[in-house]
Amino acid sequence: MSSRGGGLLYGDWPGAWPVVDRGAGVYLYDRDGRPFLDAVGGAHVVTIGHGVAEIAEAMAGQARRIAYASSRTWANEPQLELAELIGSRTPPGLDWVYFTSSGSEAAEIAMQLARQYHVERGEPERHKIIGRWHSYHGGTLGAVGMGGHAVHRSRLGPYLPPARHVVSPQCSHCPFGLSRPTCSVKCATDLADAIERADPATVAAFIAEPIGGTTSGAMEPPAGYYELVRSICDEYGVLFIADEVVTGFGRTGRDFAIQHWNAIPDMILCSKGLTSGYAPLGAVVVHERVAEAIRDGTGNVSVRMTFSGHPVSCAAGLAVQRYVATLGLVDRCATVGDLLKERLIEMGKETAHVSEVRGRGLLLAVELAAEPDTNAAFPRGARVQERIVAEALRRGMLLMGGNGTAASPDGDHVLISPPFVITEAEADLLVELLQQSITAVLGE
Ligand code: PLP
Repeated sequence: MSSRGGGLLYGDWPGAWPVVDRGAGVYLYDRDGRPFLDAVGGAHVVTIGHGVAEIAEAMAGQARRIAYASSRTWANEPQLELAELIGSRTPPGLDWVYFTSSGSEAAEIAMQLARQYHVERGEPERHKIIGRWHSYHGGTLGAVGMGGHAVHRSRLGPYLPPARHVVSPQCSHCPFGLSRPTCSVKCATDLADAIERADPATVAAFIAEPIGGTTSGAMEPPAGYYELVRSICDEYGVLFIADEVVTGFGRTGRDFAIQHWNAIPDMILCSKGLTSGYAPLGAVVVHERVAEAIRDGTGNVSVRMTFSGHPVSCAAGLAVQRYVATLGLVDRCATVGDLLKERLIEMGKETAHVSEVRGRGLLLAVELAAEPDTNAAFPRGARVQERIVAEALRRGMLLMGGNGTAASPDGDHVLISPPFVITEAEADLLVELLQQSITAVLGE
């Protein structure tokens, strides 16, 4: 806190914040010039690397031309061009873009659009959203309500809109005690059971992260899961919302993670990688059939936000996505991701307590277990992931951790999601620092 009294009100109390000074490539530097290897791209945000001057120039150029005009009256050129670019990369039919300033806002807007879609079509009783446990859709009330993050939910309980939750697909800790290939993908059919229990005529939407983010630690479903989810949603007239705030714009080696499967959602939420962190921006991308119901109904999306389609943020998004395309960074992410995953698997074999390495592209996670053979988790009180993250920071590397994938809140994992421009030598250093950090905390 300064002598005049201003201070930052977030994080652990009292916040002793390291102050970042600059960034370049996969490194951040503090005010003393100490480098930190950014192994998580901030928070799965940075794709093109830190400090790319041409993005800053595109933003400055836009700010000089027009920095702000109300979205109630005006569209702007970068907003229109970025909407067109997004529509060219999303799965077929997902062409209509509503810009927000964050992933949480995108989740809120998706919730409202799902409701509006059903009301416009004459089914006003449809209002329930079904989410999954071990999920995260943002920090605002609607988003926390749809999410399945036990800690956030317990803190805000009385304020949360009613939502139902189904199990997360997590084969290494199957909630039904089943295993592939004989499990009949029960984690997907659980959705049909939940819709039946909720009264199918009242269910509006199902929301899921195609590949989990921090909360589940890059958890992927078994083969056939999303195809089954899609057909269940179709059968019951329920919208399928894919939360690609983490996975969108290349992080899993495809433009959108859902493109790894044969299932097209009704809405996609995105944010982080859209601007690679150069400016705050999110979006809900809506399928033609949802947009049509609104167009042929009231013809009015009434929810407005002051900074929707902000010209400077959209100019950043446009410049970043053109940079990604020019350098072929989504393909690079897939290739480097395969290499890094292989090296992490090798590291895991030589390191005590590593029970699993999972994920795709550059959204990877390393799970730690007290007894890797039985997958028995460390108790939450041991704060294993927090200690590994802190140890890595001491050694000059930024990591993120999560917990709760075993018997919640037990089970620890750390995420690895560096910028797509990470070199092979930097990937090797990342693995080395991670191994040192794990060993320093958990022993040989
Ligand atoms: N959805 C997912 C999957 C996320 O991981 C996050 C943030 O981490 C959000 C939504 C919320 O995004 P934001 O923090 O930009 O509001």
